[in-house]
Amino acid sequence: MNLVPTTLTAEERALQADVRAYLDERLAPGTYPLGLGMAGAVDADFSRDLGSQGWIGMALPAEYGGGGRTAVERQIVVEELLTRGAPVGFHWTADRQSGLNIFHNGTEEQRRELLPGISRGELSFAIGMSEPDAGSDLAAVRSRAVLEDGTWRIDGTKIWTSNATTATHLLCLFRTSEGRHDGLTQFIVPQGTPGMTIAPIPFIDGTRHFCEVSFDGVRLPDSARLGAVGAGWGQNTSELALERGGVDRWMSMMPLLEHWARSADVRDSVPAQIDLGRILARLWVYRGMSLSIARLVDSGVFPVVEAALVKEMATQFEQESLSLVRRHYGRTPALTSDDPWEALLAQAILVGPSWTLRGGTTEILRTVISKGLIKR
Ligand SMILES: Cc1cc2nc3c(=O)[nH]c(=O)nc-3n(C[C@H](O)[C@H](O)[C@H](O)COP(=O)(O)OP(=O)(O)OC[C@H]3O[C@@H](n4cnc5c(N)ncnc54)[C@H](O)[C@@H]3O)c2cc1C
Repeated sequence: MNLVPTTLTAEERALQADVRAYLDERLAPGTYPLGLGMAGAVDADFSRDLGSQGWIGMALPAEYGGGGRTAVERQIVVEELLTRGAPVGFHWTADRQSGLNIFHNGTEEQRRELLPGISRGELSFAIGMSEPDAGSDLAAVRSRAVLEDGTWRIDGTKIWTSNATTATHLLCLFRTSEGRHDGLTQFIVPQGTPGMTIAPIPFIDGTRHFCEVSFDGVRLPDSARLGAVGAGWGQNTSELALERGGVDRWMSMMPLLEHWARSADVRDSVPAQIDLGRILARLWVYRGMSLSIARLVDSGVFPVVEAALVKEMATQFEQESLSLVRRHYGRTPALTSDDPWEALLAQAILVGPSWTLRGGTTEILRTVISKGLIKR
């Protein structure tokens, strides 16, 4: 991994202090539903408030309504949100990846139409990549877009699409020709498009953010196409790098860890204090790695292998820290508990196994890492 500074500058610390002060007031304890990292609750009002602070779309250029700030500055805001288990579900995907994808690959019209709304926290995106027979092997996508009389006809099914019911737009990968990689193209599909049906799939913790999305003779104008015909695979891969290297990959447990670290469970137990020390040491390493990835992005480098490396290690860390907290808790937490922290721990135990799957499984990341290292 390239060596880059993993400490914050004085300006970056000032931003951190501003965000902390704002969130202390806006998210007073007990006033919002606690969430596990990026899978926080969907709260469009909160997203709009955050947008009005200039803390969504921070890395997008100012001429498109963005903040014109750095990836590191965005990470500072994100760290504060995830530590509090903030309700970030509405804007998360758009802020992390769709906005940048549209900026890099979209037409001028698409940029002007969509990027300001993303930065204001008014537009939200869901990602339609996976299909019933195309998960790890994403190039096996079969949902098809066919150009007929100047419009695209879409047929097929997407699955595991997070937050598809609440998103204002879906960014989907469809097959436009037979070439395995160069036969794929991305499209922006507005919510409510006729012929698109979204059916929630109940998740193990009772939430309904997961969806199956069917396209039955959907018609899209060519202006819905993102990037060149056949360029979808490359665009999608770049998006996945944004999805993999960030702090959201190791911060699902942060609210629970913070709460646990201050609890009697730790105060009164030397073994728990030793485990907390182990957790903190690793956490600091992953924080440094994510920060160095953000600094590389700011210097114009797109660190795909490093991002996969962070996700591979940090998602396993999430699982291990969950096991430790659970062991020290000493009893089975109830999802229906009146204590929101106990309910959150129960939820983490149920959904924790999914953390190594979303955004690419551990096995697939190891393949990306080894192929990438061989090339160097
Ligand atoms: C919480 C969550 C949110 C998600 N959100 C979205 C979303 O918003 N949009 C979206 O499009 N998708 C989403 N997904 C889907 C996710 O990207 C896929 O689940 C993931 O890529 C794995 O695909 P699969 O489920 O089809 O499993 P499969 O690809 O069938 O894999 C099954 C098992 O086989 C292993 N395996 C497969 N191929 C290989 C190989 N070549 N070498 C070694 N091992 C292999 C895998 O590692 C895994 O353990 C989400 C998933 C989760 C869990």
